[in-house]
Amino acid sequence: MPLTKKTAPAPKKPEGPSKKSPQPFGLVRGVRDILPADQPYWRQAFEMAQSLCDAYSVDRIETPVLEETGLFVRSVGKQTDIVEKEMFSFETTGNEHVTLRPENTASICRAYIHHGMLNLPQPVKLWYWGPQFRHERPQSGRYRQFWQYGVEMIGESDAVIDAQLALIAWRFLKDLGIDTVVRINSIGTPESRVNYRNALVAYFRPKRNRLSEEDKKRLLKNPLRLLDSKDPAMAELKAEAPQIVDWLDEPSKNHFMRVLEYLDEVGVPYQLDPFLVRGLDYYTQTVFELYDTSETDETAQSALGGGGRYDGLMEILGGRPTPAAGFALGIDRIVSKLKALKPTLPEKKVEVFVAQLGEAGRKRALALFEELRLANIKTAEAFAKGSIKTQMDIANRLGARWAIIVGQKEVLDGTAIIRDMDAGTQEIVDGRKVVHELQKKMALTQQPTV
Ligand code: AMP
Repeated sequence: MPLTKKTAPAPKKPEGPSKKSPQPFGLVRGVRDILPADQPYWRQAFEMAQSLCDAYSVDRIETPVLEETGLFVRSVGKQTDIVEKEMFSFETTGNEHVTLRPENTASICRAYIHHGMLNLPQPVKLWYWGPQFRHERPQSGRYRQFWQYGVEMIGESDAVIDAQLALIAWRFLKDLGIDTVVRINSIGTPESRVNYRNALVAYFRPKRNRLSEEDKKRLLKNPLRLLDSKDPAMAELKAEAPQIVDWLDEPSKNHFMRVLEYLDEVGVPYQLDPFLVRGLDYYTQTVFELYDTSETDETAQSALGGGGRYDGLMEILGGRPTPAAGFALGIDRIVSKLKALKPTLPEKKVEVFVAQLGEAGRKRALALFEELRLANIKTAEAFAKGSIKTQMDIANRLGARWAIIVGQKEVLDGTAIIRDMDAGTQEIVDGRKVVHELQKKMALTQQPTV
């Protein structure tokens, strides 16, 4: 039958319910994809974390994303925002109550107890990097799945540990090109905090009608959290409020003084912040947060990270009393700063492109690619493409300095063509010596010209 341009008669509509094409899926609110374009920044931050932790003899640990819900209720504290309204908790089909971890410290303490790390030389120094989950109201710099890099040092109560942690967190950001200041405070021991708590309630109770509904609840349940309040009226109210430093016992004061002396010694810039308490219940003694010093937008004054000492946590979780301290940095926020600092990061340059022609050439090229990769030569390919012209265009786009071409003829002859992409010249070499010949050429082009 001759093919004409006549349009074919419209197909009969199928009978029965009409099939709609399926809707594409979007993202769950508050989470996001980290696309290839952003990966160089994530990698830069990860590699910085890794090299710094290697230098400070901190070992990597990975704990599961899923933990028993009770772990966080007990450690983070019942009356915290996290436990009250931000956890992704559910019951499994096996009737287990589990939660997507909202932070990593509790999991690490659980692992420390579970694996008997008490028997290792102390302090046990661990670092982690991974996603955390909090059902918060999504906004700029605030996600429901976000990444944290953190360090925990467990089994040592000396103030030098607190200072070293603040130093590592500050140094990590500094080496990435982000200047920060450490805002620091001491919240003392739980005993000294009881007295301070009473003083705080006595101060705020007569001012109750000036508090937001949220803060009224805090006054009743967790008065220290009033100091964390984002309510603008609170700034004024707080100014005259009692400060925890005046309630610290002597050992706590000494501990804090020593932390500050160590920070002076290593030149970490800090600011005393008498109202910094941090949101979680488990902190004792030193607490700190890191802020970008170049941030001029007051509304964007969100911390890049924070940490502190948590000497009571291990016992709360059923372990032996074990002093510990740590920090967590928010990688999502840090990466957005990195991107603003350097809008494009240089990609690792492709050195060689392997081009092929015909089935035999493609097979040989696959093997050649492996040889080059093993020799640590940054190599690219387009094995699914047939035309040499297309492959050369790709090689040019990638900035490859050399191309290796293998076709049917080269396979039969046991040779390969090395093409100098800059000069446009090419040379036939022994197929078994491609890597060696290429390395010679690369060495020659790297020699300084006189
Ligand atoms: P926190 O221990 O809760 O203070 O968290 C430590 C750091 O993690 C914060 O200073 C932030 O940089 C980051 N962070 C906490 N929550 C979020 C979130 N929902 N989205 C993005 N980053 C977060």
